[in-house]
Amino acid sequence: MTPAGEQLCYTDAYARRVAARVVQLAEGDAPLVILDRTTFYPGGGGQPSDRGVLLRGADGRTWTVRAARKLDGEIAHELEPHPDGPPAVGDSLEVDVEWARRLALMRTHTALHALCGVVWRDYGALVTGGNMEPGSGRMDFEFERMSGDLVDAIESTVNAELAAQRDVRVAVLPRDEAFAIPDLIRTKINLLPPGIEAIRTIEIVGLDLQADGGTHVANTREVGGIRVTGYESKGRINKRIRLELVEPAAD
Ligand SMILES: [Zn+2]
Repeated sequence: MTPAGEQLCYTDAYARRVAARVVQLAEGDAPLVILDRTTFYPGGGGQPSDRGVLLRGADGRTWTVRAARKLDGEIAHELEPHPDGPPAVGDSLEVDVEWARRLALMRTHTALHALCGVVWRDYGALVTGGNMEPGSGRMDFEFERMSGDLVDAIESTVNAELAAQRDVRVAVLPRDEAFAIPDLIRTKINLLPPGIEAIRTIEIVGLDLQADGGTHVANTREVGGIRVTGYESKGRINKRIRLELVEPAAD
C-alpha cells in the first residue's frame, strides 16, 4: 500500500524542516498526528525514530514530538501531552526534526554499514543484527574466530575506509532485480515478506551494499572515525562488536 503522506526521510535524508498539514489524528498511549508530509524517520532497522517539534505558525504554539512510528503505512508523530490538546485536522504546521540527534544517528548508521562491509569483505562473516543510539552502536556477526587482535585490525580498516571519502547512495530496486544481487542476499534480503515489490538499498560505493530503510550521510567523510569500545561472545559463533563515533578533526 502506498502511503498518502510524503515520507521525505527515505528520499532526502538531509531534509530537516518542511511545511505540512494535519490529515489525521489517532489516539495511542499518546496523541498521534499524521501529516501530508514529514521529515521524521519512524524508526526501524536498528535506527531509533526521530524527535523534534511541530510548530503552528497561526498562533505560535509548539508540540514536542517524542517519537515517531509507522501506523498503517503512514508516519505517525507521537506528541508529549499538551494542556490544550493536539493540533486539529487541517492545521498548517512546520515540522522540525531535532537535527543534531538525527545527524548523529545518520553518521552512526553509516559507520555500522562500513563495519559490516569490512567484516564481510575481509573475514567473510555475516551480520545477524544491530542496534544504535546517536553516536554509538553494536553489530552482531556469525564470526567464530573473532579475537581482540582482529578487532583492532577491523577498527583501523574501518577508519581507513571512512577516510577514503566513499559516496553513500540510496536506490530503490524492483524486487527481482534486488534478488539477483549476491551482496544483497547475504544481508538476508530473502527474509523480506513476499508482498514487498520494491527494495530500498544503501550502497557505500566500493565497500558495502545492503537492503535498508534507514537514513545515512552522503559520504563517509561525514562520519569521521570510529573507536571499537568492546566486543563479546554471544555464543560459540555469534559475536558482538560495539563502536562509538570519533568526531572529525576540526579544520
Ligand atoms: Zn542499516
